[in-house]
Amino acid sequence: MGIKTRSDCQAKKVKSLFCFGGEMYPKLTIWEKGGMAALKRVLVIILMVFNFSPCAFGWSSETHIFIATEAGIKNPEVTCFPDLAREENIILAGPFHWHDAAPTTIVTPDYIDQHQITEGMYVKVGAPESKPIKMKVPDPSGVLYWKILELYQHMKGRTGWEYEYYLTNIAHYVGDLSQPLHNFPYADHPAGDGKAYPEIGFWAKEHHQQFDSVLDSFLPLTGKEKETFQKMINPIQIASVDDLKKEISKIANSAISLANKCYAEKRLLTKDEALRQIAMSVSLLRVIMKNTNQ
Ligand SMILES: [Zn+2]
Repeated sequence: MGIKTRSDCQAKKVKSLFCFGGEMYPKLTIWEKGGMAALKRVLVIILMVFNFSPCAFGWSSETHIFIATEAGIKNPEVTCFPDLAREENIILAGPFHWHDAAPTTIVTPDYIDQHQITEGMYVKVGAPESKPIKMKVPDPSGVLYWKILELYQHMKGRTGWEYEYYLTNIAHYVGDLSQPLHNFPYADHPAGDGKAYPEIGFWAKEHHQQFDSVLDSFLPLTGKEKETFQKMINPIQIASVDDLKKEISKIANSAISLANKCYAEKRLLTKDEALRQIAMSVSLLRVIMKNTNQ
């Protein structure tokens, strides 16, 4: 399909830069809001060492396309664009695709609010005299849930190509949301609670790509299998942003619980489990389209 998968990523230099150990990660100095004044006074300097996991891709392009097709998106291939777009700035755009929840996490609307994109002032380490640049910085454990909310709010009132742009993006992230390992610790990176879970995380890293592509040989579904899949899609209603947070939480919690189950049993996702997960993505995407389409 020409869409990069995690294996492509692994073959590239980017992996050696970002996927091995923390010492090679770029170091950024962030001044909290009011950056220039803070710079002059040199009151507080927060040194952030980014510790993202940009090689954790999402469902395969085949699966993303299937989710988009089932949701009724006219040109489903475009929903794979965010996996390429993030390579332009993988440190900042990578965390849109996952949230490394601790294994005991129960995602709630409040939890979603705690892991978002915030604004800070960036100054290159070793060059404190350089002019700070205002930039948006994602929570290092990943902002997948929050990103879906942000896009949903951008979609309202938009039409034409602008609407299509946001739809393309939200369709991708609503797809990523149901991949169990996109909601689970990765390697020894700090999870949403700030703690590392290396045993679980390295197991998840090892099997990530197998989870991503578990459905590839079965897609697109046809005949009886497609009928069975259609029955897995439960229509939902969303009347407010808070409702959307609750629906995101449900899918995330289902994904976390399934990831825990697979880890406990040391096995991969089954075809049936994967289909039930993506049916939740299709269902959420349908209601998002229904609520936002003018
Ligand atoms: Zn993705």
